[in-house]
Amino acid sequence: MNIIRQFVKKAIPAVIPPKLYLVHGAVSHIDSEAHANCCTADTGPLKEIAFTFDDGPHPEHTPLLLDVLQKYQQQATFFVIGEKARQYPHLIERIVQEGHELGNHTLTHSEPAQTSTRNFLEEIEQTDQILEQLTGKKVKLVRPPKGKLNLGKLLGLWRQRRTVVLWDIDPRDYLMNDQSEMIDWCQNYHPVSGNFCLMHDNHPYAIEAVRQLSECQHTRLQSHTVSHWIENKTQHSTRTQQACA
Ligand SMILES: [Zn+2]
Repeated sequence: MNIIRQFVKKAIPAVIPPKLYLVHGAVSHIDSEAHANCCTADTGPLKEIAFTFDDGPHPEHTPLLLDVLQKYQQQATFFVIGEKARQYPHLIERIVQEGHELGNHTLTHSEPAQTSTRNFLEEIEQTDQILEQLTGKKVKLVRPPKGKLNLGKLLGLWRQRRTVVLWDIDPRDYLMNDQSEMIDWCQNYHPVSGNFCLMHDNHPYAIEAVRQLSECQHTRLQSHTVSHWIENKTQHSTRTQQACA
């Protein structure tokens, strides 16, 4: 199964349009820029990435995270759990008002291996309805819990023209016990333009990560929403097709 998952994660993005499946935002994942160490390299170019936050909203951590994103003018995508969105509607409204994007992370975050395709798609649909009621907009982006999908779930999402969004950078903040672990991670992170960085706003450490990465002296880091990257990739492939025609 692991081999199949690896194949899906690496091979599918090469042939599937970014509007259907996305692991990162780079046109080519091999970034030719030097992988400068964030805080020790000499002046480097602007690195553009996507901060993505899963499993919220959380009544304590999400407002602090939004504060720090606003302070540093970073745009992010929040893959929210439907039940929590219903519980904290003011946080969903604030996420949207402050220019961030929402994604669907199912209604209850049920364990993928124990969730049938039918139940999974129902959870997606129910979360959609909650988010649409709160924001007046349809949410197209979906991140399955743990990034795990089977073929039936994937095809079910594609039938509804949804974009499956995974990630290529994972600091594993949910396993951290201390803020210093996140500071260490940030100092060793080599940002590559197009990275989709997975963090969690039901844990406190993403807040420090945004602060650390935004205050880095030598690498300017700018986060965009996932939709920005979809647009970017789509435009690039259109230009490439035109050039080859
Ligand atoms: Zn999750």
